[in-house]
Amino acid sequence: MSSRRDTADRLRELMETEGDAVAQNTRTVNQLSDYAIQRFDDYEDLRDAARGIKESAIENLPELLDQVTEAVEENGGQVHVAQTAADANRIVEGIMADREAEKLVKSKSMTTEEIDVNDHLESAGYEVVETDLGEYVIQIADEAPSHLIGPAMHRSPEDIAELFNSEFDLEADLTGDPNELTEFARERVGEHIREADVGMTGANFVVAESGTLMLVTNEGNARKTAVTPDTHVAVAGIEKLVPSLADLQPFTELIAKTGTGQDITSYVSLLSPPVDSPIPDFEADEMRPADEREFHLVLLDNGRMGMREDDDLRETLYCIRCGACSNACSNFQAVGGHGFGGETYTGGIGTGWEAGVHGLQSADEMNDLCTGCSRCEPKCPVEIDIPWINTVVRDRINREAEGDEFDFLVEGLTPDEEPAGLDLQKRLFGNIGTLAKTGSLAPGLVNTVAGSRPGKWVLEQAFGVDPRRDLPEFAEETLREWYGARGAQVTDPDRDVVLYPDVYTDYFDPERGKAAIRTLESLGVRVHVPAVPESGRAPLSQGMIETARERAESVHGALVTHVDDGRDVVVIEPSDLAMFRRDYGKLLPERSAERLSENSYDVMEYVYGLLDNGADAEGLDAPGDDGDADIAYHSHCQQRTMGVDEYTESVLSDLGYSVRTSDVECCGMAGSFGYKSEYYEVSMDVGDHLRDDLGEVEGATLTASGTSCQEQLDVLYEREVPHPIELIAPR
Ligand code: SF4
Repeated sequence: MSSRRDTADRLRELMETEGDAVAQNTRTVNQLSDYAIQRFDDYEDLRDAARGIKESAIENLPELLDQVTEAVEENGGQVHVAQTAADANRIVEGIMADREAEKLVKSKSMTTEEIDVNDHLESAGYEVVETDLGEYVIQIADEAPSHLIGPAMHRSPEDIAELFNSEFDLEADLTGDPNELTEFARERVGEHIREADVGMTGANFVVAESGTLMLVTNEGNARKTAVTPDTHVAVAGIEKLVPSLADLQPFTELIAKTGTGQDITSYVSLLSPPVDSPIPDFEADEMRPADEREFHLVLLDNGRMGMREDDDLRETLYCIRCGACSNACSNFQAVGGHGFGGETYTGGIGTGWEAGVHGLQSADEMNDLCTGCSRCEPKCPVEIDIPWINTVVRDRINREAEGDEFDFLVEGLTPDEEPAGLDLQKRLFGNIGTLAKTGSLAPGLVNTVAGSRPGKWVLEQAFGVDPRRDLPEFAEETLREWYGARGAQVTDPDRDVVLYPDVYTDYFDPERGKAAIRTLESLGVRVHVPAVPESGRAPLSQGMIETARERAESVHGALVTHVDDGRDVVVIEPSDLAMFRRDYGKLLPERSAERLSENSYDVMEYVYGLLDNGADAEGLDAPGDDGDADIAYHSHCQQRTMGVDEYTESVLSDLGYSVRTSDVECCGMAGSFGYKSEYYEVSMDVGDHLRDDLGEVEGATLTASGTSCQEQLDVLYEREVPHPIELIAPR
């Protein structure tokens, strides 16, 4: 693994050279995709259907393999099951040799990228030409694909024109007009297709009952590649199998909407090869009979059967490789797939693929670029829990790590469940609850040391904390100390709640906790603030699953008696609420997780519910004549995924505020991510996008729900950014 500085340098270079094109392309597809989905009433039903088909297909994979072999052979083709990439390449090379072929044309296929078939065939003396425009570009540039469906997404049209101008001897230079570039490539690629002896495609889906391949493209080159030469080789992962033709319907709808933002892709080709159309012989200017066609289906295992047996990685096999999770990811938008990618696969789900087919090490560098913000999850057409896969892979990588000379510094201070070799940076941020408790014993001293030059130097050298960031300062008095001295103030309550004292609110920003208590009390609620441990969010974000599980069990133990007594749990920090509502489902027994999930609420969601049920808003702070009515609001990524962000907007609007909400998914800070020296600049790049989106905020109150978002906005706008509860709390 490279050093933090090497990583920072590499990511900075990618942001400078490829970042603009990737950001523009992914954001455009996001807009188109959101629009296509909004127009489509059946989206959620089809997601459920697609998920069900994939679950069942992977469950019945051995049977489907037998079935497809029978169907393809009945059609007149041959099936080869390749255990490894090397096996697949040997099979393909054998077919080339048998056919005395010299040239192979290919349509776009990530599976053939996975096995490096181009390199293999070229080193065996064959000519290989890509026919997809994006693949053609990266083949000429000798680059790896930077996106699952947009391999040349990192290049602008002007870049591509420059590449073609330098590669080909042209009468007049190409200008970067996309139509001109497409026309140019089409002519050259068309010539190669006409000359080719073998055509290789991938397959988006393979139908077991009929041996039918579904190929989804926008250029039509896959069909030409499959049917123009007399020999067609399709290489597909075994996970591409679905039982029947009817199963293709939801995927046909979904892949267009989530992948490219189209209602339907330009070409959806269903072929049951060998196809029965005559074979064009361009040299002889005649057609040869269809029965001279040959078809080979190479089905690739390469770790997939192992993934199928792996409870956590299995979901990866449901992926239909639409790329939506990459497009939705703020960090991907900043650095692209050459930064957020492994040997072959890119973006959020790339981690699962890399770990499954190439091994954990190939997923190592890219894995930490997933911050677990969860914004990819609602975009996934097959409902894959992508953040969980990233967390599991991170946990496995952590456990493979070797010890470090600084381990002794933290071993005693961090009573976690992790092995000794865990990266110190991860151990620091994963144990923030324990460290905050210790630091709060001498807040003034700790603040002075942490903010001093020597303090920052030590934090950077030992833990990789970027010195350009200021760590949050400890409050002189914790929220629980303040509450302990004050106590509950409502004697005849309408309801009783527990306010969860998250680490940040308790130790660093008790003001927002006090605001929550005053607000709830003014609405007739008695508030309890018991001692409850850190939720486990911090260790989970570092891939420390066993530590997170231990924390989850402690939190459950501390809260469940309150829930048993009929108290709701009110949470200020959205990432902690996401633990209670979603992540505890992976960490606790089902019933325990359900109890907390069903009884936990975002603080503004709770206020909304109280007001909706008739509580009197008279005591809350509404905009006055002092010009404080305009609010620029950034909701937290986890709030958006849970669908609770709208309550904040509603409460503020109902009280008379004028609310403008950012469209940007992530602030860039993402918990500890923005503090890490290797990711500081990525974090700021993502933050700049948020600032561009919010635009002019002069005269408006800036507010954000998450701790990280507040801190990032503090830096971006150089002003204090309160939580929305502080805006409405009684003065
Ligand atoms: S994980 Fe989901 S969103 Fe990402 S590429 Fe696969 S199918 Fe698409």
